Amino acid sequence: MRYEGMVYRPPSEAYSLIVQVTTGCSQNTCTFCAMYKDAKFKIRKVDDIKEDFLYAKNHYYDVERIFLADGDALIMPFEDLLEILKYINKLFPNNDRISLYASPRSILGKTDEQLKILRENNLKMAYLGIESGSDKVLKDIKKKATADEIITAGQKIRRAGIQLSATLIMGLGGIKDSKEHVEGSIKVLNAINPDYLGLMTLLVKSGTEIYDEVMAGNFEQLTPEEIMHETMELVKGLELKDTVVRSNHVSNYAHIKGVLNRDKASILKQIENALKNSDFEKSKRIRQMYARQTGL
Ligand code: SF4
Repeated sequence: MRYEGMVYRPPSEAYSLIVQVTTGCSQNTCTFCAMYKDAKFKIRKVDDIKEDFLYAKNHYYDVERIFLADGDALIMPFEDLLEILKYINKLFPNNDRISLYASPRSILGKTDEQLKILRENNLKMAYLGIESGSDKVLKDIKKKATADEIITAGQKIRRAGIQLSATLIMGLGGIKDSKEHVEGSIKVLNAINPDYLGLMTLLVKSGTEIYDEVMAGNFEQLTPEEIMHETMELVKGLELKDTVVRSNHVSNYAHIKGVLNRDKASILKQIENALKNSDFEKSKRIRQMYARQTGL
């Protein structure tokens, strides 16, 4: 298998066959992200990708899950992506699901019909980093997408029958824009109703623009307690149907889980308990160690 640079995948793809169809991130501007800073974005040649899948077929047992890396694999032209999906389905007839990272831009760049065809060819899940639903925060972090564009993209992918796993970053507005971050995110998430919602927490890593802002005193980070209160306000405002919520990333100060809205009371209780019982100093040390080791 050929991999270029560091390969990132969502936690739920830990046991998937991972093949890069792109390298790097098509955008690579987000001020908090160090993942692909040194990687040059490119869409790989279809023949090279097919060779990698053939290699995997000849060297590994049958796979059930396949993740197409890197940062924004859906940006690949529709015809090429469809050819790859068809090839995968022929090679691995028992594969249960194909998934990838998507961005608002790559979703909006495909038609409803194209997304439906991709779904019919086993593209079952797209991971979308929403990060924030506030236009102010989105602009500050250079996400290059507005809240309205994120809503349209999220609704579009779900309309095609592709499951949407969205992530939001708590603390991304800092102290100054915390309220706006929460209010905007509630609006966006309620409009999209993602199938899965992953709550991460801002982890400031050296080499990122946000790190420089923190060092210059222009961005004041939330304390662990403030992050928990921000999360509580978010959860209170969410009106979702059957969204699986997880906050189990190493960036988080406390782990929470449940299905919204069904488990809203339980999730709020989990946050209250975390505020009373969690060892935030230990979480801070783990976060720092993780930040040193990875670009996330
Ligand atoms: S957060 Fe996502 S879109 Fe932004 S630079 Fe990092 S990988 Fe690219």
